Amino acid sequence: MAELLQKNSLTSAIPVDSSGKVLGEEARRIYWSLRLLGVRRIPASRDKTVPIELKLEDLGFYDDIDPAPMRVFRDTMELLYRGWPTPLVGLRSLSGDGFRVWAKLEWYNPYSMSVKDRIGWYMVKQALENGWRGDKVYEATSTNTGMALAAMAAIHGFKVRLYIPRVIQKASDTLLRALGAEVIRTEKPLTVDLLEDVRRDAARDRALHIDQFGNDANFLVHLRYTAKELELQLRTAGVNPRGIVGGIGTSGHMAAITFYFKNRVGGTKIYMVQPAKGEVIPGIRRVETGMKWIHWVKPDAVVEVTRREAIEALLTVARRDGILPGLSSGAVAAAFMKLRDRGELEEGDYVLVFPDNGFKYVEQLNEYFESQSTAG
Ligand code: PLP
Repeated sequence: MAELLQKNSLTSAIPVDSSGKVLGEEARRIYWSLRLLGVRRIPASRDKTVPIELKLEDLGFYDDIDPAPMRVFRDTMELLYRGWPTPLVGLRSLSGDGFRVWAKLEWYNPYSMSVKDRIGWYMVKQALENGWRGDKVYEATSTNTGMALAAMAAIHGFKVRLYIPRVIQKASDTLLRALGAEVIRTEKPLTVDLLEDVRRDAARDRALHIDQFGNDANFLVHLRYTAKELELQLRTAGVNPRGIVGGIGTSGHMAAITFYFKNRVGGTKIYMVQPAKGEVIPGIRRVETGMKWIHWVKPDAVVEVTRREAIEALLTVARRDGILPGLSSGAVAAAFMKLRDRGELEEGDYVLVFPDNGFKYVEQLNEYFESQSTAG
């Protein structure tokens, strides 16, 4: 993708003819890549022989990121995309001994209080831009994408039906119904196991199966916003991260962050986190259960975490930093601690992407506390 605008400038402009039409296949490819990456002012030249150097700021590369300091929004849609960037915060609990740890708090998104608001918004936006005018969206979800889509349905005035796997906490049905969604609780254990049923029902009912697992709007929104805003935040803080750690469900956010940082920044290691065999950690799953975008990139390692390790790590953060991360955030924190304790990390700055907070997981936390009291 236009080699992700190496360094902080773009050398050379796209050749156009006298009417402004983009010339040549390669030039067209670069033109569309720049547009996808959020470049607002595409550099064009009628003289291909004179390279010019353009700063990313001048191309509008960062214009999508608006710190919205007064936090006044015209409506709840603006509340999402003008509320970005989500915070990047230093964690005392995991810093020290040469390590400085930063968490990107994706629960500062307004609908599902999770990273999934970004894809709910972008998948619907792209569907509308591509001419979709239907009145029903069907989707398989472990909660968060469902909440984001329910919010989009409320705002745009369509209906949403959500298929949820058996292992997800009961509270999700209540939250999704409160947001106006129809909820189908299934007997299958993984969200991906539901895809065939959703596809079949959507075709039968003329509904749009929006498909977070295969819809490239998932990868793209994280490339254009999540990854880009993280880079800008790190630049502002004067931080050059040694590594980024994050969990994988569809692999959308971590594949995009990997693609972005490996191409554009370089030198940043990427660690992806999956549940250990047989373990259930809502939102994340094992690579071999099948995911799309992870195969577009090369993480430096995939780390395995048990549910107990995830819960204990989230409690470590909660009891020292005073914020309550969710289970998959706990898995990310646990993976960082494992890598550090095994001596596999060089000292320096690390970013942990925390997809959501702990408020949806009272059931799992209770279960953990009860198992502790019976064990003790
Ligand atoms: N953590 C939570 C709580 C999630 O809901 C999800 C996705 O459903 C993830 C992590 C994984 O994110 P992604 O689908 O971008 O891989």
